[in-house]
Amino acid sequence: MRRLTTAKEISWCPGCGNFGIFAAVKKAIIRLNEAGTPLANIVMTSGIGCHGKIFDYLNLSGIYGLHGRALPTAQGIKLANPELIVISFGGDGDSLGEGLEHTLFAAKRNMDITLILHNNGNYGLTTGQASPLSSVGYKGLSTPRGNPEIPFEPIPLLMEAGATFAARGYSAKLDHLADLLYQAISHKGFSFVEILQPCVSYNNTYQLYNSSTRMLAGLPKDETEAIHLAKDKDVNYLGVFCQKQRTVYHETLYGGEKPPAMSYEQRIEILKG
Ligand code: SF4
Repeated sequence: MRRLTTAKEISWCPGCGNFGIFAAVKKAIIRLNEAGTPLANIVMTSGIGCHGKIFDYLNLSGIYGLHGRALPTAQGIKLANPELIVISFGGDGDSLGEGLEHTLFAAKRNMDITLILHNNGNYGLTTGQASPLSSVGYKGLSTPRGNPEIPFEPIPLLMEAGATFAARGYSAKLDHLADLLYQAISHKGFSFVEILQPCVSYNNTYQLYNSSTRMLAGLPKDETEAIHLAKDKDVNYLGVFCQKQRTVYHETLYGGEKPPAMSYEQRIEILKG
């Protein structure tokens, strides 16, 4: 198997949670590869932000998207070639700020792709402004008196939008996170993994997450219980909150279990209606 790490020098701050995410992603991909998926069939997209640098370090094909546009790019790749496994990396802003509508609609359509959200609770690349996932009272460059807004709850939001797989991991629990990512990428349908990711420079949440994270006992019995657990204010539950089957978008669009043999131009004609 070829090396999954490129020769590019890693510029994340020492101690950043992105290192744990990177290691877990590689572990999950190696497992997929050992289970028979050629690396050439796995592609990635990313947005702009500290998370997006993973694109430079991970030796996979893909497209480095515009800010907030990682998911439309991923959806385009999937529709152009449904046989590819498409993984999209997003930050708080990419996924739930600038790119919010793309995230909700990808889940609504049940696009057969995976969104990995690096939740560091701020805009780290631009020196720590408040993001859609910053906690109330978060002090950063744009909120010197404290963030007055309540953050989104990513898992309930995505479940409500239609995600058929939703999970939460923590960048410091590497083996558990790698397993969640493997499950998410293997899932048929829109899979979403929120990763609690400390930003040591602007939002160092290691202490908070080390003391507040707890593993789910198992898959919640229904949506109500899943949302209740995902919204818990005292405990950050880790694990799979939702896992179900629903027809995926490209099969509805193209018909059949397997995509018909079609040229790129023919697929574009269908998409144009
Ligand atoms: Fe990581 Fe924060 Fe540094 Fe960005 S600014 S690399 S998120 S620690």
